[in-house]
Amino acid sequence: MIKRIFPILTAVFLLQHSQAQSIISRDSVIDQMTKKVSSDSLKSYISKLVDFGTRNTLSTQKDKNKGIGAAREWVLSKFRDFARSSGGRLTAIIDTTTIAADGRRVDTATLLGNVMATLKGTNPQDTRIFVISGHLDSRATDVMNRTTGAPGANDDGSGTAAVLECARVMSSYSFPATVIFVAVSGEEQSLLGSGYLAKKAKTGGWNIEAMLNNDIMGSNHSNETNIIDNTRVRVFSEGLPAFEAEKNLTNIRNLGLENDGTSRQLARYVKEIGERYVDNLEVVMVYRNDRFLRGGDHTPFVQNGYSAVRITEMNENYDHQHQNIRTEKGIRYGDLQEFMDFEYLRKNTCLNLVSLANLAKSPYTPQDVKVDVKNLTNSTFLYWKAPATGKLKGFYVLMRETTSPVWQKKFFTDKTEMRLPYSKDNYFFAVQSVSTDGNEGLPIVPAVGR
Ligand SMILES: [Zn+2]
Repeated sequence: MIKRIFPILTAVFLLQHSQAQSIISRDSVIDQMTKKVSSDSLKSYISKLVDFGTRNTLSTQKDKNKGIGAAREWVLSKFRDFARSSGGRLTAIIDTTTIAADGRRVDTATLLGNVMATLKGTNPQDTRIFVISGHLDSRATDVMNRTTGAPGANDDGSGTAAVLECARVMSSYSFPATVIFVAVSGEEQSLLGSGYLAKKAKTGGWNIEAMLNNDIMGSNHSNETNIIDNTRVRVFSEGLPAFEAEKNLTNIRNLGLENDGTSRQLARYVKEIGERYVDNLEVVMVYRNDRFLRGGDHTPFVQNGYSAVRITEMNENYDHQHQNIRTEKGIRYGDLQEFMDFEYLRKNTCLNLVSLANLAKSPYTPQDVKVDVKNLTNSTFLYWKAPATGKLKGFYVLMRETTSPVWQKKFFTDKTEMRLPYSKDNYFFAVQSVSTDGNEGLPIVPAVGR
């Protein structure tokens, strides 16, 4: 009898003390990493990117100093600089493919190159990959114009700079899982570089658990509403998963899981971990895959079945995106560095870094997570299997009301089951693995167990 009651008391005890998220302490190593992210570094990368004149995907690949060809060689050289302090674990390549003319945004066959650095995980049994991306290419008003100035400081110098800075800082640390840092190309020409990479990953069976796309994240003010805000950032995620939607629809409908797809879970995770480590930054989840009239590099990944989200500034300035540099009726147009806020970009870069680092340090997710539905009860019994590899401290069981956007309670256990005095009918649950350093992995929503 005592044995039976004890786990229940443990859960209640932890419940009372886990009301405040602050009892979950920061991992001191990740904290140390965030202190190395520098707004000066970010600014220096963007100054250099702007100097290439244009980084239009169709621009010159022969000039040593101008155009997309010179830009990607420079990004490669930065990755290779960082590789020196990684003890051989960081390697970098330009992954090229030839894009045929498509009669739309590509008018002649063009060599496209994604610049990609891979920080190999330290556990040979761990096949997981976590990806951070930005796009290297830029555009002027006319997407086909390959010579006019297109500085692309924010779109997407900001995302590319964040990728570089995460690679610089993270490459001198080690993680059991692998992290890929990539500056894709061809985004403005219709997500060509990310489409190529996502398809390659799918075909090659890459075990990508999460992909963070960073696009337009370093400016703090809108053009028409005079809002200035460098304390909030948006994370866009799809609701109903684009991949194999029909196959999963019955299950989603029966269990009420329309807000619990894996990309939505990733968005929730980025919010929780980001707000744990990055001060004065609120992560605002937007429940849609992307903004109106715009696309992003996470989309080919979600379409291929991966969990992927888009990170973007709170208020966009359309005078500074996809515009030729000019002054008209007193308004300055163009994607120039002078319109950026490097302290804001630093925080948004840290958001990526802490999410990636916490994921790459986390153990594999729990297996066969089930919620017991054999009987009518006013409590909930969850059970699962420990992952086959990785060092575990235990598991968190997450709980939230069905109307809550975020997880509200977190219960720790070192067992592979938990009984909670809350009805399975009234709450959503999930289970996360926790490493010995306290890093939790992505939450797994239970299937029904009979
Ligand atoms: Zn963009």
